[in-house]
Amino acid sequence: MYPELKLFIAGEWRSCSRDMPVINPATEKELGRLPCAAQQDLDDALDAAVKGFRIWSRTSPRDRADTLLQVAALLRDRQEEIARSITLEHGKPLQQARLEVIRGAEFFEWDAGEAMRTYGRVIPAPAGHKFAVHHQPIGVVTAFSPWNFPVSQPARKIAGALASGCSVILKAAEETPAGAIHIARAFEDAGLPPGVLNLVFGDPAMISGYLIPQPPVRLVAFTGSTAVGRHLTTLASEHMTSVLMELGGHAPVIVCEDTDVTAAATSGAVRKMRNAGQVCTSPTRFFVHEDIFDNFTDTFVTRAAATLVGNGMDDGVEMGPLANERRVPVLTGLVEDACAKGAELATGGARLGDAGYFFQPTVLVNVPDTARIMQEEPFGPIAVINPVASLDDAISQANAVPYGLAGYAFTNRADYIDRMIDEVEVGNLSINTLEASMPETPFGGVKSSGYGREGGSEGLDNYMTVKHVWHASKIA
Ligand code: NAD
Repeated sequence: MYPELKLFIAGEWRSCSRDMPVINPATEKELGRLPCAAQQDLDDALDAAVKGFRIWSRTSPRDRADTLLQVAALLRDRQEEIARSITLEHGKPLQQARLEVIRGAEFFEWDAGEAMRTYGRVIPAPAGHKFAVHHQPIGVVTAFSPWNFPVSQPARKIAGALASGCSVILKAAEETPAGAIHIARAFEDAGLPPGVLNLVFGDPAMISGYLIPQPPVRLVAFTGSTAVGRHLTTLASEHMTSVLMELGGHAPVIVCEDTDVTAAATSGAVRKMRNAGQVCTSPTRFFVHEDIFDNFTDTFVTRAAATLVGNGMDDGVEMGPLANERRVPVLTGLVEDACAKGAELATGGARLGDAGYFFQPTVLVNVPDTARIMQEEPFGPIAVINPVASLDDAISQANAVPYGLAGYAFTNRADYIDRMIDEVEVGNLSINTLEASMPETPFGGVKSSGYGREGGSEGLDNYMTVKHVWHASKIA
């Protein structure tokens, strides 16, 4: 059920002399040994990516699109096998893993279409001259994908890069390598030329520190924490290398007095616990109008406390374990700090069970601004619910963090929505839904949540460069 773990370089699978364990977070048992790339492996991947770029950048957009569509079809065919390996290594419920595989396929399908729409432009020019703008693939991309969505996160980066005609060296997350391995296998089966997609694992700091300064690397595409994103951006800037950064979020949810309280609270509690809260767009800071605060909080806490937590392989489980053990003390520390500063713990707050990295669905109420959780993204199953007196108050609280990725609101009032569109500082604002992103919509942040967009008709912009061509019909 769990695949053999290898690097994929120049179209071949390889092992290494060093390896590390991959652990099932629900059982703490070892699933396999993951090879760790040495410098020679990275040199080989670079060499392969340079050769791959020469081939792929000259492959027609239609042929590139055909390959992406074949990969999407293979992922759909292999949905069950891939989903099971995701649940084993990440812990999420199997049904959520199945949906993630389909979302990964959809990213390839969307970008296959976009590959054929990277239009340039003709600019009016004097007689005897032509001005034309061409969009061209930027070059070799180094991509770093995180562990919270083992298939859809690498899929999004590979889809954008390959649709644009770039080659890629992907370092996927060491905690959850199987998703990226399944994708690489699908590309191999679809006949992708060797070197266009290379997959490595190992020591993240060693790999990024070695690859980013290499001259052929023209883009660093990273999804992960703001701290690491800042570090990689600094490294890239020393070499004038572009970056695409999808970083942390700390999403506000503004709940207005006119909303359907039961529906909003139930939706909030269910959505907060999805993927055990390990989602950069996870709704976390609920700012609820004081007139409906008690009713909203009661319904939310009751539904959150009823979340069925367990091994993602078991039927009916709604929330699995945290994906890695280091998150457990981080979450416990945030809860303890909030309570010490005066917050009320309405439910949860602690590790669950003797085996596995399970954490209780947790709700903190009336949390003071001084609590760390009001500024630090929990990236776990913790919600904060605070009362607000007005929309002004709610918007100012929503914007009072360094992040600006997703933001949400529940209201039907046009005047409220109008103000939120203008004033809430996020890259993605959703009203009456806690969905933030689809393949066809642009996704990304403002402020410390990053630069650039993935998906939508903007999704290939970072992977391409603009060349202006001035053609004079006679030598002037
Ligand atoms: P972390 O900061 O240690 O690592 C975050 C990610 O970056 C991991 O995938 C890790 O392998 C990678 N990484 C770390 N150092 C690196 C380096 N020097 N070079 C290249 N990659 C490197 O945090 P963590 O404990 O793994 O995760 C928790 C935090 O990460 C959360 O607070 C959250 O903000 C963030 N995160 C965000 C997303 C997202 O979708 N935006 C996904 C996963 C994690």
